[in-house]
Amino acid sequence: MRAIVLEKQGKVESSPLHIKEIAKPHPGRNEICVKVNTCGICRTDLHIVEGDLKLRRSPIVPGHQIVGSVSDVGYGVKGFRQGDRAGVTWINSTCGKCKFCKSGMENLCDGMRFTGWDVNGGYAEYMIVRQDFAYPLPSNFDDAHAAPLLCAGIIGYRGFKLSGAKPGQTLHIFGFGASAHIITQVARHFGCRVIVSTRSGLHRAMARRLGAAISVGTSSIKADAAIITAPSGALVLDALSALDKGGRVAVIDIHMSRIPEIDYDAKLYGERSITSVTNYTRADVKEFLKLAAAIPIKTTVQEFKLEEANKALTLMKQSRIDAAGVIRI
Ligand SMILES: [Zn+2]
Ligand SMILES: [Zn+2]
Repeated sequence: MRAIVLEKQGKVESSPLHIKEIAKPHPGRNEICVKVNTCGICRTDLHIVEGDLKLRRSPIVPGHQIVGSVSDVGYGVKGFRQGDRAGVTWINSTCGKCKFCKSGMENLCDGMRFTGWDVNGGYAEYMIVRQDFAYPLPSNFDDAHAAPLLCAGIIGYRGFKLSGAKPGQTLHIFGFGASAHIITQVARHFGCRVIVSTRSGLHRAMARRLGAAISVGTSSIKADAAIITAPSGALVLDALSALDKGGRVAVIDIHMSRIPEIDYDAKLYGERSITSVTNYTRADVKEFLKLAAAIPIKTTVQEFKLEEANKALTLMKQSRIDAAGVIRI
């Protein structure tokens, strides 16, 4: 089968991803083989390609927002049949035994294995996943438009919940890409006022179209909650400055540059707080997919061919993709 593989990390502009012919995988016990139709690109893929995150396996096929159909089922699979549509996310498996797994916080499991990092992902014609980590997808999304829901959407949704934004409150979003364009729609659905800060003119236009107000510099309206979707630690200070007392900043990136020194008296006092958002649980996935279909969320996607993976990630890095990039296999 054809696959995009990463063997050695490097700046994406130097085209570290290569297209290769590799063996088609076969599902083991309780696993399904998914014939991939589309795979969304995510900033985490960029972090893996460029070395912000250490390589856990080489070569590796990146990609963890996978939409396809079941081509083959392993022994013991009951939840899926050949031909069923299936979605696969960043969480490839969890240990199921640790205190986090047992208390509804499997997103924090140390034994978690990640699609496209520990296990070959969706920048390929086929991939394997355990049946209990694959999901049926709502029928009102086609394969391209469903892909960004599977990480950008879910992590954004978890970020929205952890930010503590309540209906009618003001949410300030910093950075605007695939995730933010979905968070904005979720927040508006819950009656929140949304303010967006981003340098990209393309992204400002998109935010406006989705009903957000744009803030340049310091906003006069204090926000009740903030979400940072870009990996710049300096944004934490901006977000704290934008917050009203009691507000919380949720950071949804898996990697962030260093946060500058925080002036406690000026920035944090007043019961302001900061939280990271780490992965998501299968319950988050199911809850979000149901909500996305009900709202309904409209994702904006730009499609690329499999052999254009380097180009797609480069454009994402440069904020030159309108909202979400999707690779069609
Ligand atoms: Zn665990
Ligand atoms: Zn992701």
